[in-house]
Amino acid sequence: MSAQHFDAIIVGAGQAGPPLAGRLTAAGQTVAVIERKLVGGTCVNYGCIPTKTLVASAHAAHLARRGNDFGVAAAGVTVDMAAVKARKDRISVGDREGLESWLAGMKGCTLIRGHARFENPHTLRVDDQLLEADRIFLNVGGRAVAPDMPGLADVDYLTNVGILDLDEVPEHLVVIGGSYIALEFAQMYRRFGAAVTVIERGPRLTAREDEDVSAAIKEILEAEGIDVVLGADAISFAKQADGFTVTPRAGAEPIGGSHLLVAVGRRPNTDDLNLEAAGVQTDSRGYIVVDDQLRTSADNIWAMGDCNGRGAFTHTSYNDFEIVAANLLDDDPRRVSDRVTTYALYIDPPLGRVGMTVEEVRRSGRKALVGKRPMTRVGRAVEKGETQGFMKVVVDAETDEILGAAILGVGGDEVVHLILDVMTAKLPYTAISRTMHIHPTVSELIPTVLQELKPLA
Ligand SMILES: Cc1cc2nc3c(=O)[nH]c(=O)nc-3n(C[C@H](O)[C@H](O)[C@H](O)COP(=O)(O)OP(=O)(O)OC[C@H]3O[C@@H](n4cnc5c(N)ncnc54)[C@H](O)[C@@H]3O)c2cc1C
Repeated sequence: MSAQHFDAIIVGAGQAGPPLAGRLTAAGQTVAVIERKLVGGTCVNYGCIPTKTLVASAHAAHLARRGNDFGVAAAGVTVDMAAVKARKDRISVGDREGLESWLAGMKGCTLIRGHARFENPHTLRVDDQLLEADRIFLNVGGRAVAPDMPGLADVDYLTNVGILDLDEVPEHLVVIGGSYIALEFAQMYRRFGAAVTVIERGPRLTAREDEDVSAAIKEILEAEGIDVVLGADAISFAKQADGFTVTPRAGAEPIGGSHLLVAVGRRPNTDDLNLEAAGVQTDSRGYIVVDDQLRTSADNIWAMGDCNGRGAFTHTSYNDFEIVAANLLDDDPRRVSDRVTTYALYIDPPLGRVGMTVEEVRRSGRKALVGKRPMTRVGRAVEKGETQGFMKVVVDAETDEILGAAILGVGGDEVVHLILDVMTAKLPYTAISRTMHIHPTVSELIPTVLQELKPLA
């Protein structure tokens, strides 16, 4: 069988593949995009877009219940989960369809449906079709880890995919995991009206954040009636007639639940690509090893997005596309190491993060300065009646460069960008502390925080 030839093949229509197809075809190349499931990948179908749509519905329910705090009578607030799901589906499906029609109308691009596997470094098989290209770009993403926990295989459980199909509010949702995905679902379902228990193996939630951030997040969730169980180092499950029980650790009282969400991490979709046939190396956890320009160990193959382990976000995947396109098409030597780590946790209020944590700065042994202000002392937060959380910025005492920040509070996911931009520009913190900001905003207090820096103890 002879192979169909393209200038480029992109495996996976996630966050990097489609825009790269756009750039390559605009440059006159023929491109095949191979997608085995849904165009748009995780973000559009099972990740950012559906979850943030649900977070918005949960926020509306929460605010309606708090109506009296604002002098607004809103009695008998109910959540119509079928309508919430329909809104989520409309937005998510609309996004996917937009992407599909963009690819369909892209001159020079062929969308091929099916699972791709390497035959050799230049050839992929999709069912009985052989496709070959000069350059191949992998954008295969990842999936939820199914942990090996006693009894889990005997009970029905949901991942981030299945939980999006619920059109009724669970009686009692038990969430295994205490990180970003787990906490976003936990809070939204509590706000939809479910009893919610979060069970985390470690000693605190969001283990990668500073301890004060973890503690404040726990306080925010508990204030809404979410039970948080920490130190669950021997989680086991047992099926019951009306659901299941979970025992967090030896000797602990079993907790009954109606619905179970398992959100304990993700793994890359690299185990079923036959990468060995292409000479593409992976690390011990299955992530594709790439250099600073995202080239793999095979010199005609690049890897972008979650599958390369250099980021786990839509913005890192999209930035990977920009780096590859800049290097191959624009003669612009952009690098992964140019970017500053940044992300958000979309509980409400959100956590906006950039750069190092204070603990990481402490471990690095640098001399540093820290500024911190509770949201109770941010006028705009007080006016909005949303005073949970704090903002914290850490600065290098010798270079005056900002090393990192955590903005846990109303608008934190937006405000953090002013720090991100200054860090990327490698400007001193005074670029912000001497700037006049708009009143009243949450951002206007960032200069104040930076005017009140104290040595890191
Ligand atoms: C619940 C949840 C919430 C999230 N929220 C956020 C958020 O708020 N902000 C944020 O930045 N990130 C968020 N993320 C992470 C974000 O969704 C991912 O980082 C992003 O989608 C990764 O995109 P990607 O381009 O690497 O791959 P993906 O979007 O995962 O796409 C990979 C595609 O490749 C296809 N594929 C895989 N293998 C093959 C094969 N062999 N042949 C053909 N096709 C194949 C898959 O079907 C898939 O469509 C969230 C993730 C989850 C799970």
